[in-house]
Amino acid sequence: MATAAPYRIVVAGGGTAGWMAAAALARFLGPGFTVTLVESDAIGTVGVGEATIPQIQMFNASLGIDEDAFVAATQASYKLGIEFVGWTKSGRYTHAFGDVGRDNGLLAFRHTWLRGRAEGVAGPLAAYALNNVAALAGRMQRGPARTARMLPEMPYAFHFDAGLYARFLRRYAEARGVVRQEGRIEAVARAGEDGHVEALHLEGDRRIEGDLFLDCTGFHARLIGEAMGVGYQDWSRWLPCDRALAVPSARARDFPPYTRATAHGAGWQWRIPLQHRTGNGIVYASRHLSDDEAAARLLAGLDEPALADPRPLRFLAGRREVCWAGNVIALGLASGFLEPLESTSIHLIQSAIERVLQLLPGRRPLAPLRDRYNRQAAHEMERIRDFLILHYWANDRDEPFWRERRETPLPDGLAEKIALWRESGDILPDEGDLFSAVAWLQVLVGQGIAARGHHPLADQPPREQIAEYLDLIAKLNAREVAQMPSHPDFVRAHGAADTEIAA
Ligand SMILES: Cc1cc2nc3c(=O)[nH]c(=O)nc-3n(C[C@H](O)[C@H](O)[C@H](O)COP(=O)(O)OP(=O)(O)OC[C@H]3O[C@@H](n4cnc5c(N)ncnc54)[C@H](O)[C@@H]3O)c2cc1C
Repeated sequence: MATAAPYRIVVAGGGTAGWMAAAALARFLGPGFTVTLVESDAIGTVGVGEATIPQIQMFNASLGIDEDAFVAATQASYKLGIEFVGWTKSGRYTHAFGDVGRDNGLLAFRHTWLRGRAEGVAGPLAAYALNNVAALAGRMQRGPARTARMLPEMPYAFHFDAGLYARFLRRYAEARGVVRQEGRIEAVARAGEDGHVEALHLEGDRRIEGDLFLDCTGFHARLIGEAMGVGYQDWSRWLPCDRALAVPSARARDFPPYTRATAHGAGWQWRIPLQHRTGNGIVYASRHLSDDEAAARLLAGLDEPALADPRPLRFLAGRREVCWAGNVIALGLASGFLEPLESTSIHLIQSAIERVLQLLPGRRPLAPLRDRYNRQAAHEMERIRDFLILHYWANDRDEPFWRERRETPLPDGLAEKIALWRESGDILPDEGDLFSAVAWLQVLVGQGIAARGHHPLADQPPREQIAEYLDLIAKLNAREVAQMPSHPDFVRAHGAADTEIAA
């Protein structure tokens, strides 16, 4: 009996998206599939993308990657959240991963806290978030809490060198049968009536045929955009930052377990501590700030000496009209872009890969799978978009860029969410929203949007009981954090690369 020909998947592009996809396909698909990855050293990758969210642990774990080995190979540090500085006049706040406080039966913690605020017995929200207390103290641990069972585990993510991560995944994927083809894609051959892609033509007269093509060619969008002609939905009216400059600086002396995002007159600036260097960048709206001014502002804001000249990047916030067209599925920057304010791009690659694996077309009918994929991808990005818009819209800064942000009408769903919070202290994330109610809470409160009400159940305990409860959580957090190792010590024990880590 003749065996069926293998199903040929071609990954176009070898940045973070391409190698994450190739590694996952190599790990999960059986012998009925072949995976070929095409990349061009001459074109290179976008070369940024250093901060992640906790879900990446699942990706690495599903590939069977040892976490400490990954941390060492990518010069990574641990990340407990993001500190936002200067987004409102009142200073700084943290969006920490994980829980804030502890729910009381049916009652979400935020209602107890809001009642406590109304009674004058609650401290700042941040005091009740274990991740926040640990992050600002520069400490880190993983696994269950040591001092009190009522404390949650601390979810964490990583800061890493994206180039080293791609190299790490390349070794993994090639060891599992992925074939890499070096060379520039010069043409994309489409076939017959349905216009499906048949093959990629590479320089040197090479032709790579396939059944399914993953477009991981970054902002070039060589397949989904150029060949398939899929349009791009422009979201710049809400997210007008369209440029960035990235620059590495020397290793951070403080080596904190969190990303810092500092607002400036026309955007914001990131600081990401790695073991061997610090990643920095400025994100700005070119309508409000020139490239020279942005470079000067970036360099003036560095805490450590720069190690290179700033590297420019241009982008447009938005997404592809559809991410799956014909037999092409776009992943990573080819599928759209949201600025790195909440470090979501690499996560979007991960969740797209999960969807590809779940809905893998194989030889089954395509249309329903494709439609579902496109609906899910659009919904996921729109929810993240709204979360980012909230950071910009809820500001009290004076510069024209920020005034404009306040005055731009919000997308409907977001306006409703904010109104509900203001009125009742309720937060209802949409289905498929990457960000939990607790994440929304921290940004709403951090950006200075007050809630007028809280759930009536929170009125039942006497004031003293509320005070005691809040006090207990803050004390437990402080006690737990006091026994944690410092972040540098933790990295020394769990994934130190050769570099000496700042003490
Ligand atoms: C300023 C900025 C900061 C960011 N910060 C973060 C962050 O902190 N966290 C986060 O999660 N994400 C971040 N991102 C996003 C992150 O960088 C990307 O999501 C990630 O790197 C994936 O990129 P990619 O693989 O899609 O594209 P790329 O890295 O651009 O890779 C594209 C690949 O396609 C290949 N290619 C292109 N055209 C051709 C061709 N014609 N022939 C052959 N090969 C071709 C290239 O050689 C390359 O291998 C940031 C992005 C920007 C712009």
